[in-house]
Amino acid sequence: MIRVVTGSGLHDVFHSTGFAVGRNVALFLVAVFWLGFAYWVYRDARRRLDDAWLIATATLVGLVPFVGPLVYLLFRPPETLADVRAREIEVRALKAHLRKPEPQCPVCRSAIQASYLVCPVCTTQLKEPCAHCSAPLEPLWQACPYCAVPVGAKVETIATDLDVALTAEAAAIPQKRSKRAGSQRAAAS
Ligand SMILES: [Zn+2]
Ligand SMILES: [Zn+2]
Repeated sequence: MIRVVTGSGLHDVFHSTGFAVGRNVALFLVAVFWLGFAYWVYRDARRRLDDAWLIATATLVGLVPFVGPLVYLLFRPPETLADVRAREIEVRALKAHLRKPEPQCPVCRSAIQASYLVCPVCTTQLKEPCAHCSAPLEPLWQACPYCAVPVGAKVETIATDLDVALTAEAAAIPQKRSKRAGSQRAAAS
């Protein structure tokens, strides 16, 4: 009697509208998750692959209920296309940076700038100033690019300066010689 009641009860449960609604909701959720996972695989594949056939294949794998997305996770490329592009840009910038090394002092290796005449750390003379405008000149330059005065002009002024210096030196030599002779005589005595 009781068994019959429970049997009919179970029968009622399976055929009641409440169970039907619950089953439908569960099936609906399963379908939502299945399609949601497949869509996620499609979107993720588009971010990681730039080949349409590979994206289609990944989406087909993702459509296999619940196992497909796991398989896709195992085999998807580790980097997104945006990451790859960012890394390429970074590498290109690094290479450009390496090609143009920072100028450094030839003596103490401290960082200098192209406009420096003297190393600020070890006071090594790095460049000659232009005789006319004092701009820093590269050793190979034949004329100052800022004021168009030829670098040779500087040599001329030095030559005249040298002449003056040499005449002064020549005038001073006899005095020096006599002084040295005097000091030698003093040392000998
Ligand atoms: Zn230096
Ligand atoms: Zn100049």
